[in-house]
Amino acid sequence: MATCAKVLIDGASNDLAFSYLMPEGNLFEEADKTEVAPGSRVLVPLRGREALGTVMALEEVDLDQLSYNLKPISKVVGDQPFLTPPLLKLADWIAGYYMSSTESVYRTMLPKPARGREEKSKKAKEVRLTQAGKQTDGVDKIPKTAKKQVEAYLHLYERDDHEIGVLLSEMTGSVGFGRSTISGLEDKGLVEVVDVIVDRDPTGDQIFIASQPLKLNPQQEVVLDQIKEVSGPDLEKPPKPILLYGVTGSGKTEVYMQAIQHVIEMGMGAIVLVPEIALTPQTANRFKQRFAEIQNEVAILHSNLSEGERHDEWKKVLDRKARIVIGARSAIFSPIDKLGLIVVDEEHENSYKQDINPRYQARDLAVVRGVLEKCPVVLGSATPSLESWKNVDIGKYELAKMEQRVDDRALPIIRILDMKLEARKQGGGLCILSSKLREAMQVRLDEGEQTILFLNRRGFSRSILCPECGYVADCKHCSTTMTFHQADDKLVCHICGFAQLPPRKCPECGSKAIVNSGFGTERVEEELRKMFQGARIARIDTDTMRKKNALRDTLDAFKAKKIDIIIGTQMIAKGLHFPNVTLVGMLNADTGLHIPDIRAGERTFQLLTQVAGRAGRGELEGEVYVQTYTPHHPAIQFGRHHDFIGFAEQEMEMRKMFGHPPYVHLMVVTARSKNQELAEFSLKNLHHKLKENLPEEISLTEPLPSPLVKSHDQWRFQVVMKAVKSKAIGRHVRSVMKTMTFPEEVIVTFDMDCYSMS
Ligand code: ADP
Ligand code: ZN
Ligand code: ZN
Repeated sequence: MATCAKVLIDGASNDLAFSYLMPEGNLFEEADKTEVAPGSRVLVPLRGREALGTVMALEEVDLDQLSYNLKPISKVVGDQPFLTPPLLKLADWIAGYYMSSTESVYRTMLPKPARGREEKSKKAKEVRLTQAGKQTDGVDKIPKTAKKQVEAYLHLYERDDHEIGVLLSEMTGSVGFGRSTISGLEDKGLVEVVDVIVDRDPTGDQIFIASQPLKLNPQQEVVLDQIKEVSGPDLEKPPKPILLYGVTGSGKTEVYMQAIQHVIEMGMGAIVLVPEIALTPQTANRFKQRFAEIQNEVAILHSNLSEGERHDEWKKVLDRKARIVIGARSAIFSPIDKLGLIVVDEEHENSYKQDINPRYQARDLAVVRGVLEKCPVVLGSATPSLESWKNVDIGKYELAKMEQRVDDRALPIIRILDMKLEARKQGGGLCILSSKLREAMQVRLDEGEQTILFLNRRGFSRSILCPECGYVADCKHCSTTMTFHQADDKLVCHICGFAQLPPRKCPECGSKAIVNSGFGTERVEEELRKMFQGARIARIDTDTMRKKNALRDTLDAFKAKKIDIIIGTQMIAKGLHFPNVTLVGMLNADTGLHIPDIRAGERTFQLLTQVAGRAGRGELEGEVYVQTYTPHHPAIQFGRHHDFIGFAEQEMEMRKMFGHPPYVHLMVVTARSKNQELAEFSLKNLHHKLKENLPEEISLTEPLPSPLVKSHDQWRFQVVMKAVKSKAIGRHVRSVMKTMTFPEEVIVTFDMDCYSMS
């Protein structure tokens, strides 16, 4: 018998692992760490080359029973396993639940620089293929006579993962090419030499002065005690997650910080997840300040870090030098040892769901990880997701409430403007700014106060709306908005598949003015410049904010009162604090309602609540204007009264009635390809197989074009599956997939608990 390692090779699409013997001799840099363990990154021989992989498990193998010889691991990367035992278990869970390969989950869990041949903490130069170099015809760009260049190019090209380069020192050293050969390839645009690691702390040169814990008010006390009660090492069983429903400004962050302090004092660590857009330097600094005495113990992970920085932050955690992690979605994979608390702030945020493979939902993973590590999980929000609300209902989560603001300031007044009346006043058609909002803006300009206008871009112009009566084409089976498909002149429901001809005139009022309801930020900006000549106007959306620091610069200028009016998308809906803003306008509260999305009402309510939170943050009182064609929609009415519980009650009832999430799990299966027929044909095939022996507990739609039928040059077709138990769907899909193959040009994806139907 011998101890062997089951190694999952990088890039393996199936979960096949190979067995290897333990490495010969001590391969570690540090003599006291010599063991290969589950989670170790290793280099192994594979079919005449070397490959990187991850040790999934150790096993005892009877070598005499084997008809072939096992080879030993050739090298261990780094000085310890990169994935901890709970993370390996979490990876298994993710692969199973979200139907992705275990390898792709491992890859997601590690920062890129940690996936190479060396654990690189130092600055190094790496030779990498450029986009041109990754093309199959790349080699043709090198003259045949330049043999060394061809060889060097192929050395890079024939690797498994084109994203991973080779260290320059390795190319010119052990591999044996001259620097001039590499330069030749650089000149042809096939490779580039890049710095891979910058050894830098993203907040390195800042000095933080420790902030003292505030004296909590009674409602904060209660919640902190509730968390403390279920915290501690060696808990017998995992505590129930706590849903903290606390209005904006109720002091949730302060409670999180004191709870973290408590677990740190017990020698444990904590993870705080925040939505990417909310992870501003202000948020990060608040935590850095509070824990300034142990400053290096706070690691910050967000997508604006360079790869080197990201790696270094991760490494601090792995080396147990940082015990607190503040980060966006992927921070849930931080290798914290002795995890004592996970906080998910703004737990309702959609950005916790990853929209590429593996399509995990970080909030849900927080709960799973909490079970695996027996640690408390706190989910906080002023507008909890209905998924979490339901879990409180059925006793899976505990509820904690903070319904008062710390400063006792009243929430701003929200005025609803009926755009149907406005359209009639302005002579029909689509109207961007109502006269009331316009007047209110003029007052602000005269007073030297500031205005923020929001434009909801979701579902942009794909629904059909009557500007005279507010009618929107809804599916009679699902009560979600139908999507207009211009190509075949049809309205389609993307939840159940029901299709019909679009109305030529409004079925409610007979108006022929029925239109697509969209306009963009650019249009609005144009309109504003005409209306308010001389006003200083800035636009914030993904187009104008491409340049690094553009967002920060614009916001700084706004803060310094160099801008009067900001028009922006939901990019600016949260977290910002501008005391001089006394007016917030929401231009098209409806667009978010009329999308083929079960959560459309919920999201509109959330957006309204957040947007309202932007007004009146200072001494001056704030006002919010909401333009809508459907002023009586529950999301708008409950939003207006800041009534989350009322909204949740009625929305849940509707979800239950129509059999929508959170009462069911929903999986979208999509086939996509550059070739329309192949995509459609493959999906139909799959649908046919799914329909055979379909368990009774699962419902399945007919094959349909996706709401975004063509995207990135690829045609997309989909079916939707629903069931009360997620496992039922997983089991069925897996058993069907075993029997199927697809053409190479077709990609089939599975999106469990899908959030955006596109
Ligand atoms: P939330 O996260 O719920 O929006 P915060 O924790 O950011 O609320 O608190 C809002 C503001 O109130 C912050 O400026 C914070 O410093 C302050 N604050 C929080 N708790 C207290 C307290 N107990 N006493 C005084 N000020 C507090
Ligand atoms: Zn009408
Ligand atoms: Zn429907």
